[in-house]
Order: sequence, then structure tokens, then C-alpha cells
Amino acid sequence: MASTLFTDCWCSSSSSSATANRFVPFHKFEDGLLRSRHIRFATTTNPCRLRIDASASAAAAASGSPSAAVAAETTAKIIDGKSIAKQIKDEIAAEISRMKDAIGVVPGLAVVLVGDRKDSATYVRNKKKSCELVGINSYEVHLPEDSTEQEVLKYISGFNDDPAVHGILVQLPLPAHMNEQNILNAVHIEKDVDGFHPVNIGRLAMRGREPLFVPCTPKGCIELLHRYGVDIKGKRAVVIGRSNIVGMPAALLLQREDATVSVVHSRTKNPEDIAREADIMISAVGQPNMVRGNWIKPGAVVIDVGINPVEDTNSPRGYRLVGDVCYEEACKIASAVTPVPGGVGPMTIAMLLSNTLASAKRMHNFK
Ligand code: NDP
Repeated sequence: MASTLFTDCWCSSSSSSATANRFVPFHKFEDGLLRSRHIRFATTTNPCRLRIDASASAAAAASGSPSAAVAAETTAKIIDGKSIAKQIKDEIAAEISRMKDAIGVVPGLAVVLVGDRKDSATYVRNKKKSCELVGINSYEVHLPEDSTEQEVLKYISGFNDDPAVHGILVQLPLPAHMNEQNILNAVHIEKDVDGFHPVNIGRLAMRGREPLFVPCTPKGCIELLHRYGVDIKGKRAVVIGRSNIVGMPAALLLQREDATVSVVHSRTKNPEDIAREADIMISAVGQPNMVRGNWIKPGAVVIDVGINPVEDTNSPRGYRLVGDVCYEEACKIASAVTPVPGGVGPMTIAMLLSNTLASAKRMHNFK
């Protein structure tokens, strides 16, 4: 007998205005980072809450209708970023101990924090904790909000010259009176563990060139694909979003792995048609549940980078986190999917630690 179930997904931006214009100044990412971006809360009273018939077929799901798309049984493998990140951290810890025993070197990560933002302070604290966990030394300089650009540059220069420091992170955002680009460009490319230096990004884009570091979140997405044995070569991939920190480098990385890549952004016409062609989807948009089941090719692998707080009066925090992809629908169409939370988020910090270790090994020519 057919049973009735409800999907918890919100309408996509293209189909309704189910997201409310409520913004919070920052929110906590599952990697423990509080980032200062304006976040859109979805309303709890979703007019598009779907009533679907669980007996409908998977073939109907692939036909294009969102309600049909959620109808089939859940088949997707859940890509467990939390446990992969833990595995990676264990590997990093073992490698650090091997290096320490062999050559007496311990990797070091320096963080420059300016001002008194609580979110930034929490980020730095979490980073420090993760460093301790794997055996990386962490260094921190905390400057007052009214510091000058020259003072910040002076500390970066000191860390650039310090042989105990193998990676430098400038905590963003910087106070408004500072030129972010000047400051980020001052980090030596050999210590740019965030991978945001234009030279690193340029090398990532060029054939035959190797970046010294790859930005942590996209690197984490590719690592998940590798560790789950997903074949990338020759596959069609779509990246939804083209930001400098996630979408653009994710597309470059997929291309380096010989995927044929389409990039969808806010001006793309008929994004669902392009998305539905893809064997691999990486979504980094920041719109809760925008990607519906009918955007997904049956059997595709879906990596959901988005971390979006939606209002939830049942949660003690008043909100919960959802991805860009309607998870319930994706589970019934895709062959594998990352959850939010517990997917890409934990990988970001693991990749930061991995970049710091790689930097120390490179500097000391330790194989
Ligand atoms: P940005 O806001 O910098 O970029 C969003 C991108 O999505 C832009 O390229 C934008 O297009 C595109 N976009 C926006 N709306 C639409 C739409 N309706 N259709 C198609 N494309 C659209 O975000 P980030 O890249 O920094 O972050 C994206 C998401 O990933 C967020 O939810 C963020 O919280 C999360 N995140 C998670 C991390 C983790 O560790 N897991 C780390 C970093 C981010 P256009 O360029 O045309 O404006």
C-alpha cells in the first residue's frame, strides 16, 4: 500500500520566495568556523512542502518533477565526511610523529587575528584545538582593532621569516580600514596554506603548473571523491557557484582530474538542465535546498558544500543547518551524497592541517 511522506525541502529560489529576508551577521560552520557572511534564514512555514506518494517509481523521479523526484526509495550511499576527516587527522598525526622522530621538525601554523570579533576568536580557538590534536604547533598574534596595516604586515613578515612557521593564516575579515589584498599578498606563497594567493590560484588554473597549496574546502571535496573511489576522469561535472574560495577552485580541480566541467552561477539560464547532465555535482551556493531532485542525474555523486542555517523553533538554538541540496530528494536520485552537517564541513579543517604538514615536509625536504 502506498504510504505518504513529506519532504522537508524548501522551495528553490527559482520556484518561490520561500526564504525569508532575515539575516544574521555570522554563523557557526560545522568545521567550527564562525564566518562573517550574511546568512539567509529560510522560513519554517514552507509553502512548497511537498506531499508525495512513496510508491512512485524511480523512473518517474528522473522525469523532472520535484515531487516525483522524491518518490523513489532511498538508495544513495552517504559520504561520511566526519569519519573521513577523522581518518585524515589520524594519518596527519602519524606522519607528524614520523617526521619529528626522523628529523626533529614539528609543523607550525601561525594565525594573525585583528580585532575582537567573537566569531573570529572562536575560529582561531578551534584551529588551535585541531592543531593540538594532530601535533602541529600553533602561533597566534592578536592585534587590536585599531592597528595599522603596517603593524599587521610587520607580523606577517616575521612569520614569513620564522623557520618554525610553515603556514600562515590571516583571519578574515580584517577591519575595514585595512587593504585585505595587500595583506593576503604579503604571505609568502610557500606558507600560503589557505591557497588563496593569486600565484597559487594561477598555477591551479594552468596546465603543467603545480600550485603549492590548494584551497581547503575544494580540496576536501575532491578528497571525498577519491576516498569513496569515485571515478572523475572523463566524467561530466557541474559546479554550482563560482566564488574564489570554493566554486572556482573546485571547477579547476575537477578539470585537472580530466572531468568535463560546467559552472553554474546566478546568471545561468536553466541551471537545472545543465546540472542534470552531470555525473558529479559540487554545489557551493549558500541557498538552502536550492538543488532539487530534478536537478540531479540518476546515479550522480553529489557533494554539497553549502551550509545554511534555517529557522527551526524545535531546535534549542532556534535554527538548524541544511545544505544547498535538498537532501531527502538527492538520497533517492543520486548514487552518493554528502550530508549537511557531516559532509564537506569537517574536511575543510582537515585539509588545512594537511596543507600545513605538506608545507613543513616540503621545506625540510622530508619524504
Ligand atoms: P559566495 O556567496 O561567495 O558564492 C556563492 C556563489 O553561488 C556565487 O558564485 C553565486 O553566483 C552563486 N549563486 C548564488 N545564488 C545562485 C543561484 N540562485 N543559482 C546559481 N548560483 C547562485 O559563497 P561561498 O562560495 O563562500 O559559499 C557557498 C556555500 O558554501 C555557503 O553556504 C557557505 O556557507 C558554504 N561554505 C562551506 C564551507 C565548508 O567548510 N563546508 C567553506 C566555505 C563555504 P554569482 O557569482 O553569479 O554571484
